[in-house]
Amino acid sequence: MGTVYLTRKAEFAASHYYHSPELSAEENLRLFGKCNNPNGHGHNYTLEVTVKGAVDATSGFVVDLKQLKEIMNREVLEAMDHRFLNKEVPEFETLIPTTENIAIAAWRRLEPKLKAAQLHRVRVYETPDLFVDFYGEA
Ligand SMILES: [Zn+2]
Repeated sequence: MGTVYLTRKAEFAASHYYHSPELSAEENLRLFGKCNNPNGHGHNYTLEVTVKGAVDATSGFVVDLKQLKEIMNREVLEAMDHRFLNKEVPEFETLIPTTENIAIAAWRRLEPKLKAAQLHRVRVYETPDLFVDFYGEA
């Protein structure tokens, strides 16, 4: 039996701003423009989590869907939905909460919690026209 890829989607809203401590105030403004405003601005993000594996002969599933939903809710949505990412999510005290880093943070939160299925991809949309894919550290 071949490998099957299953994707679950979830939406969350969060605010952020971009600021690098390695840059001066002028350099931050030049690089990040209005996204450098420390009062932040919001996005409606879409998270897509893709797991892969063989289809279980008994259940016909590649993953326990209820468990996947619970893990996404607990590890990512409860931590990031309606949050000011820079101030309320520990990863973003040091990492700039770009869409790239949100995808990496979501992967690192989800990957150790998934048991039967293997995490394949985390995709985060910042807008309908812009998304980031992360396939893990390897
Ligand atoms: Zn933004």
